[in-house]
Amino acid sequence: MNEHLLDVKGRIFNIQRFSIHDGPGVRTIVFLKGCPLRCRWCCNPESQEWKFETMVTGGVPKTVGRDVTVREVLEEVRRDRMYYRRSGAGGLTLSGGECLWQPDFSEALLHAARDMGISTAIETTGYAEMSVIRRLLPYVDTVLMDIKHMNGEKHKEFTTRDNGMILENAKQIAR
Ligand code: SF4
Repeated sequence: MNEHLLDVKGRIFNIQRFSIHDGPGVRTIVFLKGCPLRCRWCCNPESQEWKFETMVTGGVPKTVGRDVTVREVLEEVRRDRMYYRRSGAGGLTLSGGECLWQPDFSEALLHAARDMGISTAIETTGYAEMSVIRRLLPYVDTVLMDIKHMNGEKHKEFTTRDNGMILENAKQIAR
């Protein structure tokens, strides 16, 4: 294990254990904060902004977002190793938000997880330079790429961003 990986910091807004819908087997999902898209149907609007936000639930204000180290995240992820193994190929999934928009943190977290023998996955829109994606790919077992619309105009209308770079990246990842 490369010890310096464990000290890399990132910003997340949730960690969800025992997911069975975000990659193979039982998984722990780390939701990163910050996303370049603004999908009209976004089910995690609190993920979009990089800055911390206050959300009021049942009259109780709650801060959304926290800064964490890779070490802190992996301490939680490791707790379910037994379930990852028993469910087949379970492990860690990075979701968001958009993990490609925190490349240093995402790369370090994926790399360190793999060094511990934990299977890794990312859920991504693919909206980033391919050079960023290439940094992560050596440490990713499963890429779940969510292309919001194949039509460029519709994509922009519904997400505020063009899909040209996303489609090109999808081709390159599939090669
Ligand atoms: S890509 Fe995901 S997190 Fe970002 S705005 Fe769209 S639905 Fe929300």
